[in-house]
Formats: sequence, structure tokens, C-alpha cells
Amino acid sequence: MTTSANTCPTCDKPSHKEFKPFCSERCQQADLGRWFSGRYAVPGEPVDPHALEESDDFDQH
Ligand SMILES: [Zn+2]
Repeated sequence: MTTSANTCPTCDKPSHKEFKPFCSERCQQADLGRWFSGRYAVPGEPVDPHALEESDDFDQH
């Protein structure tokens, strides 16, 4: 009686063995997208292209 342990984290439906722990590929992608958007959403910190150039030069000896 522990079926509640195997539920989709996105929509709480029973998980599918192919998309564990999700119920479908759609929910799997949805969760992944949420993770990415949360990670890349860094307000107030724009990427400085010059910093990337410097780190590239620093790699050459
Ligand atoms: Zn789901």
C-alpha cells in the first residue's frame, strides 16, 4: 500500500516506469525546464564577454 511513493512530482499521477519518477515525458521535460530556468535566471548579473576572453588567454602558456 505504498503506491503514493511512486507519483509524478509534476502532477501527482502514478509514475511510469519509462519516465520514473515522472508519469510521462511531458512531465519530465516540464520539471527539467523548471530546473534550468531557475538556474539561468540570475537577475543583475549579465555575462561579461571580456571576462571570457581573459580566461581563455589565461589558459595559454
Ligand atoms: Zn505527471
